[in-house]
Amino acid sequence: MNDEDPGGSGVSDQVHTLCHSCGGAGMVADPKPAVIGGQARAVDSGRPCPHCGTTGQFPGIVPPV
Ligand SMILES: [Zn+2]
Repeated sequence: MNDEDPGGSGVSDQVHTLCHSCGGAGMVADPKPAVIGGQARAVDSGRPCPHCGTTGQFPGIVPPV
């Protein structure tokens, strides 16, 4: 039986900033109209965050603008 990593509290010693555009998800919603199967509907497949490039965070301190 394995216990959870005793030292892996998830706290990094590196400072990083959560992307304020995607909230750390790395993807942003991108709903757009589409016609699928002859029916018009909105498709929200999302797209890579243009700010962080899907990483969801920046190294160091990045103030929101
Ligand atoms: Zn982002």
